[in-house]
Amino acid sequence: MLGSTISRQLSTPVRRWASTATASSPSSASGLRINSDRLLETLHRTCRWGAAHRYGDDPTETGMARLCLTDDDAKVRRWLIQEAEKLGCTTTIDQMGNLFARQPGSFRSPAPMIAMGSHLDTQPRGGRYDGILGVVAGLEVLRTMQERGFRTLYDIGLVNWTNEEGARFPKSMCSSGVWAGATPIEEAWGLTDIFNPTVTLRSELERHGFLGSVACSSDPAMGYPLGAHFELHIEQGPILEEARKSIGVVCGAQGYRWLTITVTGRDAHTGTTPLAARRDPVLAASKMIVASNAVAKKYSALASTGVMKLPRTSSTNTVASEVTFTLDIRHLQDRVVRAVQDECLETFAAIAREDGRGVSLDWTLDTDSAAVEFDAHCIAAVQDAATHLVGAEQWMKLTSGAGHDSVHTSQHCPTAMIFVPCKEGVSHHPQEYCSPADCTLGAQTLLESVVNYDRRRAEMEQ
Ligand SMILES: [Zn+2]
Repeated sequence: MLGSTISRQLSTPVRRWASTATASSPSSASGLRINSDRLLETLHRTCRWGAAHRYGDDPTETGMARLCLTDDDAKVRRWLIQEAEKLGCTTTIDQMGNLFARQPGSFRSPAPMIAMGSHLDTQPRGGRYDGILGVVAGLEVLRTMQERGFRTLYDIGLVNWTNEEGARFPKSMCSSGVWAGATPIEEAWGLTDIFNPTVTLRSELERHGFLGSVACSSDPAMGYPLGAHFELHIEQGPILEEARKSIGVVCGAQGYRWLTITVTGRDAHTGTTPLAARRDPVLAASKMIVASNAVAKKYSALASTGVMKLPRTSSTNTVASEVTFTLDIRHLQDRVVRAVQDECLETFAAIAREDGRGVSLDWTLDTDSAAVEFDAHCIAAVQDAATHLVGAEQWMKLTSGAGHDSVHTSQHCPTAMIFVPCKEGVSHHPQEYCSPADCTLGAQTLLESVVNYDRRRAEMEQ
């Protein structure tokens, strides 16, 4: 516990943790210490495939444009397979191109492996850490274990999920969704390149030789089941940084509902139609959006409008005929999401009657994604790791606001996530940044978490 005692006395524990500890004095519970220089060097070296959007002079000061199954994505995938095989891992590619690299445990158990997973694909104007950190950190964990001759009890390994971003083939968390049975494989295979409708996800898998023979499924009878899934990821939000915490123990993901609201009024001359005689959908929709914000605040939920459409024929001196807008409602509890939806719709109905001769209102529910709670044992494994590494004061529980592959894996195997801070919460942007100290601490937390879970699993299964 030396490391955590020291950490708690320091004003900047993360940086000190990374710089004061040495390979000869491991403060970790496992006795293993990941190699920070190798982790960072590897991460930035892999970013040569897809580097884009330079913003500074340092070689690492670029963003990334490594869209799924482009030539650059294929290169980094081949590199990952080689590196995993150098460590003695067995590699398997399934029918969605998901890569599973597996290192045997001392039990030599045929039970599904404990996986460390994330994604190597990026947004077109993405950064160097989203997804990439999780995969490279998993590799660094395997390298550290191999170098020190450390064996987990159960098999352990790495997963690179195909098309997490959904930027080129528009479906996010695409292949973990197929693996989890949430998306039919034909639908995923049939997704077309947003720039070139003659190219499908399947044709790109074939072109690069990544259309594996193993079914993309968690079903042990035909697919590749997992014993657990741990994902290290940058937070992509400002909460950790603002709270000055080093690690987020992610306990689940928010539920969300997407609605499209259509407000219909009537075209009218703006100079000759008195306010009392109008049916003005823009006025009503604007009030509805303002009201949705107030309802969300009341429930400590989120409500957002990202799209608002007016007819192409709209003009300055005509009251518009119709407006549609989207409403994205999120909260960690499904019942709160539902309550916000109900109260918004009630309020919208009242607003529709408020001005002039009123407008009519219609709505559709486009997406309903239930809230997810991660596994209590996996969460405990991450909490213990975090407490040991930085002290109980330095980590906090979080709920993921964004979707991740872990949301899908959690439906079929025990899952948890680890968040590390990213500068100013910026992500999906070339200047996305996670400090070397935070990358290192995240990777060490990942290592300790899987070791903790491996031991717990042995206790539970015996
Ligand atoms: Zn990601």
